[in-house]
Amino acid sequence: MKECILIVEDEKDIVKMLEYNLKKEGFKTLSVRDGEGALDSVKNKHPDLILLDLMLPGIDGLEVCKILKGDAGTASIPIIMLTAKSQEADKVVGLELGADDYVAKPFSLRELAARIKAVLRRGKEKDRFPGVLALGDITVDPAKITVTVKGRQVDLTAKEFELLKVLMRSQGRVLSRDYLLDTVWGFDHAAEIQTRTVDVHIQTLRKKLKGASRHIVTVKSYGYRFDHEA
Ligand code: CA
Repeated sequence: MKECILIVEDEKDIVKMLEYNLKKEGFKTLSVRDGEGALDSVKNKHPDLILLDLMLPGIDGLEVCKILKGDAGTASIPIIMLTAKSQEADKVVGLELGADDYVAKPFSLRELAARIKAVLRRGKEKDRFPGVLALGDITVDPAKITVTVKGRQVDLTAKEFELLKVLMRSQGRVLSRDYLLDTVWGFDHAAEIQTRTVDVHIQTLRKKLKGASRHIVTVKSYGYRFDHEA
């Protein structure tokens, strides 16, 4: 079955160009021109991936990202943001809200297609390990997207959830920030954004896990390790 990509963009020429080229790459496409349309379309059509322009009439792209990634029913749908050069700060906010990647305008179609395929592939890899993980005080259910600490439910963002899952699946092994960034976010960025993004998410994750945060051990100048005996 063809994978369906939802294009959220108000500039008609860009939409036409994307539709034409994504169809040529073997995808189905759906297009909406504003944030409200995007939320409706996600609810009713269940796309496999969303290309989300940030500058939209009405609800802007960041808000759309926040709503979709904050809802357990839609959090797993990958979002690639389309950003303009002048939106560097928004890009960082978008990634912290859980967007999976971004492509800066003007973008090359070849690069965009490669990013889309990479994000979809990562999504499939995640689906290959659906089992419940219970280590130390923490239980993660990837199918239900729930985390509990000694039976108490903890609300995590999509990225905090992924980060915890990756750490738990590799329990006992030290994972570098680069590895975590590549596995959970999967893209290359300037070094200061890399470190910051991983560390910020670890920090908020630990806060939410409270006492159970002892399982996430910092390995100085390298990365993090999940220790179920900690
Ligand atoms: Ca726009």
